[in-house]
Amino acid sequence: MQPVIISSRTNRQKIPKSSKDLDLVELRRRLHQIPELGFEEYKTSQFISQFLTKWGIEHQIGIAKTGIVVTIKGNRAGRTLAIRADMDALPIQEENKVSYRSSYPGVMHACGHDGHCAIALGVAYHLAKHRNFAGTVKIIFQPAEEGLGGAKAMIEAGVLEAVDAIIGLHLWNNLSVGTVGVREGALMAASEAFNCTILGKGGHGGMPHQTVDAVVVGAFIIQAFQTIVSRNIDPLDAAVITIGQLLAGKKRNVIADIAQLNGTVRYFNPALAQFLPQRIEQVIKGVCELFGANYELDYQQISPSLINHPKITELVRSAALSVVETPPLLVSQCQTLASEDFAYYLEKVPGCFFFLGSANAAKSLNYPHHHPLFDFDESALKTGVEILLKCVENFCI
Ligand SMILES: [Zn+2]
Ligand SMILES: [Zn+2]
Repeated sequence: MQPVIISSRTNRQKIPKSSKDLDLVELRRRLHQIPELGFEEYKTSQFISQFLTKWGIEHQIGIAKTGIVVTIKGNRAGRTLAIRADMDALPIQEENKVSYRSSYPGVMHACGHDGHCAIALGVAYHLAKHRNFAGTVKIIFQPAEEGLGGAKAMIEAGVLEAVDAIIGLHLWNNLSVGTVGVREGALMAASEAFNCTILGKGGHGGMPHQTVDAVVVGAFIIQAFQTIVSRNIDPLDAAVITIGQLLAGKKRNVIADIAQLNGTVRYFNPALAQFLPQRIEQVIKGVCELFGANYELDYQQISPSLINHPKITELVRSAALSVVETPPLLVSQCQTLASEDFAYYLEKVPGCFFFLGSANAAKSLNYPHHHPLFDFDESALKTGVEILLKCVENFCI
């Protein structure tokens, strides 16, 4: 689909009713009710477009299928700052009993991306209304963050053209509402995935000497993997290799000819991007040779490590300090081996991704992200808008 420019004249779609011009909680709750999976965010995109149109904000729709880019010019010349919000939901059945729960079975906004869209809409509303800033702000509504390559698709569609810096945030239930996690350098891990098939030779469970037991080969490989992080990587560099899935065998007295080991790899140090896939294959190859088995390996990079630029991090940190009462949490307190495809934008332009505390244990709003009972303290929405507006104000000085 070709991107389409929507001005307030061209969009004749029905405008959703709203009691006020801008109600962040209402926006978030309405988005929460229409969760859609990656690259299928058609209703979400339409909803966002309708509000932008209602507020007279020109925007482009249909970028990388369902993405939207809003460009707002300030009242004087200056640089261009991009702000990114992700739009997709997850294949999870919501268990919350709230009035605004998902209206689609098996799909849920369990990561808070509904909140990110509401915050970005709030920022667009304020910037377009007052235009009291220098330069240009580009707001990127990105599809498919949850492992489907939305950031890459948006970059390929050219959304970073003429962008000088980029900022993104994630509502974060690992932090209490009222706090902000800001960190220069590595904030989130690179994420890689692999599927390895061990090809042995099956046979009778009582006659193992006639076989190449794929289960035994697989078990040795899993053991050997444990030495990669503990013995090949600098202990000061965090890394994880997890085999989350081991599939082998059909019956207890039949030796398996095939074993499937599926895993995930996480690390912060970008220098490990080359080393880890090589070492993993070396271990698989070596063990297979030892036992006379063969293998097939499919290794994929999902996201690189997310590295925040010092200058833009400082911009976010000072904006956060001026907005929240609690001093923002710093450094290692907010690092995580979860991953984010925002990392792809940071490979192209300087920027900062930060965590907006959203947990409230007293209200049971502290379930982890991707949990069927995930929900967050909606007072974080306003904080998010205020921090981003402050960033725009200070960036363009
Ligand atoms: Zn997520
Ligand atoms: Zn997320």
